[in-house]
Amino acid sequence: MDEEALNSYREAGRIASEVRRLVPSLVKEGMRIIDICEAVEEAIRQRGAEPAFPCNVGVNEVAAHYTSPIGDLSTVPEGSLVKVDLGVHVQGYIADTAVTICFDNALSDMVMAVEEALDAAISAIEPGKRVSEIGAVIEQVIEGYGYKPIWNLTGHQLGRYVIHAGVSVPNVSRLNHGRFEKGKAYAIEPFATTLDGAGEVMNSPNTYIYRFSRRKKVRSSEAASMLAEIESRYKTLPFTPRWLVDRFGEEKVKTAFRQLIGAKCVTGYPVLVERRGRKVAQAEHTVIVERGGCYVTTA
Ligand code: MN
Ligand code: MN
Repeated sequence: MDEEALNSYREAGRIASEVRRLVPSLVKEGMRIIDICEAVEEAIRQRGAEPAFPCNVGVNEVAAHYTSPIGDLSTVPEGSLVKVDLGVHVQGYIADTAVTICFDNALSDMVMAVEEALDAAISAIEPGKRVSEIGAVIEQVIEGYGYKPIWNLTGHQLGRYVIHAGVSVPNVSRLNHGRFEKGKAYAIEPFATTLDGAGEVMNSPNTYIYRFSRRKKVRSSEAASMLAEIESRYKTLPFTPRWLVDRFGEEKVKTAFRQLIGAKCVTGYPVLVERRGRKVAQAEHTVIVERGGCYVTTA
């Protein structure tokens, strides 16, 4: 990795860790989820960087890919488990990190399980190691606490302007595709649920996060200029229609954006929920693999 890339990864990581530390003060029972999303995204911009993706707020069985739609009225329920997953990029170099806030006393050790699994995984990473060995470490820690890892959510290699690049890092031992490489960046993200859960996520019918997928002639000039704006602002990174309101206004975002979805100019990431509706906890850091181990950019 060249010096400029490394410096950008470090800067993105430093900002992401600062913003993550604000999260406990931003998430309280009864608060509006849209206020959490906007506060996190604003905190990233105030520090001179950009969100690498919309702030994800996953309540209870919602594991990933929920961000507030425009006008969201939903709030943090009492007794819930709330994952806040945030991304920062500097020149396209990404820091991806997440924390779980727990208002359910019975599940505070499930949060400890994913945090300890993450620490153990980070300690075990080194160049040349199989990703399945790290999956085995994560699985063992989570099961040791009496919980179940979610097998079909994984960590991932990071590329410039690309969130999921190349290798996936599983949360179980049985998936074995690839090895860690020196000088590459990875997000490590253990997810756990309770033993009566499926240990598996599925798509929900709802989608709130998108990315640019292709240029294509669309009929309305509004949709065309919206697509050009999306491509230039976010490139291949995920975004939310909420971010387009400043330029296009709420009504136009709704109508023109529907056309872009219909023409497959943008691709959605459906909200992922635990198959049996059980609560899910997550912890996440970004690391750069170096000789003899790894460097955590988001610590
Ligand atoms: Mn993440
Ligand atoms: Mn991630």
